[in-house]
Amino acid sequence: MPTPTRETHLASRPTGWPTPENFRVVEVQLPDPGPGQVLVRNTFLSVDPYMRGRMNDVKSYVPPYRLDEPLDGGAVGEVVASGDDGLHPGDTVLHQAGWREHALLPASAVRRVDATKVPASAYLGVLGMPGLTAYVGLTRIAGMQEGEAVLVSGAAGAVGSIAGQLARLMGASRVVGSAGSAEKVAWLTDELGFDAAVNYKDGPIAKLLAPHAPFDVYFDNVGGDHLEAAMLHLNDYGRIAACGAIAGYNEERPAPGPRNMMMIVSKRLSLRGFIVTDHGDLASEFHRRAGAWVAEGRLVHRETVVEGFEHTVDAFLDLLRGGNTGKMLVRL
Ligand code: NDP
Repeated sequence: MPTPTRETHLASRPTGWPTPENFRVVEVQLPDPGPGQVLVRNTFLSVDPYMRGRMNDVKSYVPPYRLDEPLDGGAVGEVVASGDDGLHPGDTVLHQAGWREHALLPASAVRRVDATKVPASAYLGVLGMPGLTAYVGLTRIAGMQEGEAVLVSGAAGAVGSIAGQLARLMGASRVVGSAGSAEKVAWLTDELGFDAAVNYKDGPIAKLLAPHAPFDVYFDNVGGDHLEAAMLHLNDYGRIAACGAIAGYNEERPAPGPRNMMMIVSKRLSLRGFIVTDHGDLASEFHRRAGAWVAEGRLVHRETVVEGFEHTVDAFLDLLRGGNTGKMLVRL
């Protein structure tokens, strides 16, 4: 029997900041799964900053979203009907057909996850793509070593909150974070074990970081003035893992780059960008180490959960404005 369900489409491409009018909820009927297919009822949808880039019609590392088609993104859900011998109703699965209530997928497009020891939502955050991003950036890209001082921007977000804690667990001498509110700063220092944190809205970021400098590694989620400030405060041979540049994602005209690029030369700095999906070979090492730290309570995580499929767009827009602490999710 067909399943009536809803999915979110991109109705028009945003210019600058997206608005609710750029999205449309569409009712559809999904057929029963055929051989080799599964029907999944999504329980958590992920909204992520990279989705903003996919709303632009430009060539990038992932194809742009298509107009008048469902958006996609990370999701976890429960198999409700299966045409595949390896998957059964009740199984919890991770997949990429988010932004919708149900997904009809080839069994090869879903991964069964164990939701008995950690909640299923953890596979969208600490034990999922954001967690792996933090691990890849710190280890492979920045080559962080024990005893080094680490600066993380966007530190109260999904990636940043894990990056700072991983740095501490891997023996950083000091971990400093920047985030956009007093509450977030208090969470970083009081609960996550950051040595210091600053609210970048309190003044020029270079000035706010000065008392906590210098650093050996900068994990950059923000770009813009944060990158310029980090270059100022890095030691000679400092390394920057360029993970994201959210300060510019909604700008119609990109801001000019750091004004102190000569510091790359004078301090012999390295700046290396990366995309997590190129580093899947580190996933099992990451899951082994991070899984143990989570189980021991040494790696903590928080979720900001928006209730209801009909609020998916609100959750995405709120994420861009900094409404989340930790991972932003929608619970269905
Ligand atoms: P977050 O959970 O960090 O959410 C985004 C956060 O960005 C907001 O909570 C907000 O927090 C902050 N922010 C928004 N605007 C600004 C601004 N102008 N200046 C400073 N901070 C701002 O998202 P993720 O953890 O999922 O992603 C973090 C970064 O990592 C993004 O840049 C993303 O694109 C990137 N990324 C890169 C990947 C890769 O493979 N390279 C993979 C995954 C993510 P606040 O209140 O602190 O302002």
